[in-house]
Amino acid sequence: MDTKPIIGITPNYSYETKAYSLHEDYVGAIERAGGLPLILTPHQTLPDFLDGVVLSGGGDIDPLLFGEEPLPQSGEINPLRDAYELRLCREALERDLPLLGICRGMQVMNIVTGGGIYQDIGVQAAQPLKHIQQAPRSYGTHSIQIAEGSLLASLWEKKQTVVNSLHHQSCSVPGEGFLVSARSSDGLIEAIEHTGCRFALGVQWHPEAMKTEEMGLLFAAFLRAAAAHRTDRR
Ligand code: MN
Repeated sequence: MDTKPIIGITPNYSYETKAYSLHEDYVGAIERAGGLPLILTPHQTLPDFLDGVVLSGGGDIDPLLFGEEPLPQSGEINPLRDAYELRLCREALERDLPLLGICRGMQVMNIVTGGGIYQDIGVQAAQPLKHIQQAPRSYGTHSIQIAEGSLLASLWEKKQTVVNSLHHQSCSVPGEGFLVSARSSDGLIEAIEHTGCRFALGVQWHPEAMKTEEMGLLFAAFLRAAAAHRTDRR
């Protein structure tokens, strides 16, 4: 019997092609860390047998869902994906299911806990860095400062590292229960973690695309939490 932790991953949905899609890097990162990836679909509830959830990257979230009218810079939105990811995220937090939010996924976590979002950092943040890199996805282009005492600090035992950056939005204020675990030098939030959950980490970058030893440690910590959840569930 397979005893690997089972990790649900949310895919994107295209209204145009009627197809689900998920970059292979998400699946690869979970497999390399010793998990069994399972692609979730929008009409299901969170299966009982899951040991962790990855909210994957993607487009913008409908600003109406966080109580704002859309700015002209706001991008394409996906009502189906918004509805199911917000629901799954809420449910995962309630169940204390290990949760990793990547890019858009971090913003989903922040919205369900009442945090704020910059719809476009180019117009809403003061003197932002370049956060939409023009470089291979795997390559880190800006540094982040890691908060002392955070989960990231304990994983990496360092105060600073370099990450890739493929976003025009960011969290402005952390949601209830979340603390800021990393910022870029322009002050923008690059990672959040929940203080009351077993493991609920949101990162603004794409660790699955970087495939470095450092990002491997991040996925390994997520899988350890998922394995502990699996043991407790039995
Ligand atoms: Mn960035």
